[in-house]
Amino acid sequence: MDRNEKLSDHFTFGELIRSETAERKNIDNSPPDHLIVKLQRLCSEILEPVRLHYGKPFRPNSGYRSTELNSEINGSSSSQHCKAEAVDIEIAGISNYELAVWIEQNLEFDQVILECYRKGEPNSGWVHVSLKDEETTNRAIVLTYSNGSYSNGLLA
Ligand SMILES: [Zn+2]
Repeated sequence: MDRNEKLSDHFTFGELIRSETAERKNIDNSPPDHLIVKLQRLCSEILEPVRLHYGKPFRPNSGYRSTELNSEINGSSSSQHCKAEAVDIEIAGISNYELAVWIEQNLEFDQVILECYRKGEPNSGWVHVSLKDEETTNRAIVLTYSNGSYSNGLLA
């Protein structure tokens, strides 16, 4: 699939697989074909509704990660990024805490994790969102990750 090909109105295949680390280290981060439908699902069910609500363009980070890329960045071995089930989002000018709350209240998801957010710094950190395939029940888990540990709920 061509990197410029659109997976949905506002997001391209390239945006869901791009990685500075992969480029720098020459790691192939192309997903197997059967995972592309899951990246499309992340676009239509998560990224497009966020884009529509905030009305601002943004580039997702860390959609798909190949096993090789994931180990290079010391990602969790069970990372949903490796299954094309997760994407990390930040939107310029929007507090990541508010973004996480909006997703929690408005979208279906498997996990929402407010990661590395620091109170009083709206742009700090990012929001990790995952979604299972259509046949699998989403767990609706909401967590905050900070200083190396997870807490339940969204903590500002
Ligand atoms: Zn993530």
